[in-house]
Amino acid sequence: MKFQELGIIEPILRAIQDEGYEVPSPIQAEAIPILLTGRDLLGCAQTGTGKTAAFAIPILQSLYKQKPANTGKRKPKALILTPTRELALQISESFKAYGRYTGIKATVVFGGVSQIPQVAELSAGTDILVATPGRLNDLVNQRLCDLTGVSVLVLDEADRMLDMGFIHDVEKVIAKLPRERQTLLFSATIPKEIATLSSTILRNHATVTVTPVSSTVETIDQYVYFVDKANKGRLLIDLLGDETFVSTLIFSRTKHGADKIKRIMEAAGISVKAIHGNKSQNARQAALDEFKSGTIRALVATDIAARGIDIEQLSHVINFDLPNIPETYVHRIGRTGRAGLGGTAISFCDYDEMKFLEDIQKLIKMKPQVVEEHQYPMQVFEHIEPKTVPRPPRAERNMRAANTPVKSPVKKGTQSTANSRAKGRYNTGRH
Ligand code: AMP
Repeated sequence: MKFQELGIIEPILRAIQDEGYEVPSPIQAEAIPILLTGRDLLGCAQTGTGKTAAFAIPILQSLYKQKPANTGKRKPKALILTPTRELALQISESFKAYGRYTGIKATVVFGGVSQIPQVAELSAGTDILVATPGRLNDLVNQRLCDLTGVSVLVLDEADRMLDMGFIHDVEKVIAKLPRERQTLLFSATIPKEIATLSSTILRNHATVTVTPVSSTVETIDQYVYFVDKANKGRLLIDLLGDETFVSTLIFSRTKHGADKIKRIMEAAGISVKAIHGNKSQNARQAALDEFKSGTIRALVATDIAARGIDIEQLSHVINFDLPNIPETYVHRIGRTGRAGLGGTAISFCDYDEMKFLEDIQKLIKMKPQVVEEHQYPMQVFEHIEPKTVPRPPRAERNMRAANTPVKSPVKKGTQSTANSRAKGRYNTGRH
């Protein structure tokens, strides 16, 4: 199945190609043709299945085909409600990416920040509004957002909105929308309240169900190494000394980090390339081709650059940094273990990332196995803010240096002590 076969218009096809998507994901293949006919939809799907594009593409297409209003300000014609700020931002970025050749404008509003810039954007006019329910309700109550032009409503992650106590805000928003509209409801699970909600707001809807991401996650062997930030590079080199790491995708949170990891690996003689937003599309494609053909055995990528990477034979995914958005972890490790095949995902976790690990574990409802016997067990058990620690005057520094005995590096023999410290710290209560 190709995107062309789904009846998608050329400007959107071009944007999808820019994203590097080769084939539609199952939910896209099923949902896009249904949504293009204007039908309501109940989608049982989680983040990571490609559901954003499954609703964003048909929405963009139908707005593109509508004649633009020639008078007055553009009022939102499509509204997407989603539970968290992170998801709201991701969705609006997706609309911007898939709609980059359509001239259609997407705006995002969410709580926890000043409403002033959001109000300014709304009053400049928009076609698509992505919102968290609480903030949207506030804006509507202050008459700062006009929803009377909405002809498509998407409730994204409806079960999470329910869990987070947003359902009343959602109902209040729905009450302000025109009754004549297309409605889409996406939810990973369908508890009673969601079934009731869907029966009241959906009309003659189609249902599409795709395998939840977590079932993909279950086929992947997941490990965590607790390690200090400064030792992550050494640990990586150590692991890649093992020849079973045939094709390894390494994730870095930042572009700068990706380049740094690449340099460390090159210095150790490992064939590697890095891909991120600062590299041209051609350079990224060339790196990807070398990786796919096995010319290089490792690829370092940022999350954005890794979008759309589809490599069949990935042996390992390594999270050099843990992502702060738990869904990103699922996307990352889903790069291995494709099509139900097993794979191995390894995460490096330093002290500051422990909170991220907890969030991930909550989402995937399991705990990756902790690898305790390794060369660089964690030694730093507190948050270190290097920039806020004042530097002592030079004279004092010189004096301290003269008085400090030289520490010996961690030797193999001392490791059991270091390991047992790590164990004591992380195995009580946490794992
Ligand atoms: P979502 O479930 O919408 O959050 O999407 C999960 C990830 O899959 C995102 O990083 C998308 O950019 C990516 N993605 C969506 N559709 C495709 C596709 N057809 N091919 C490859 N990657 C995709």
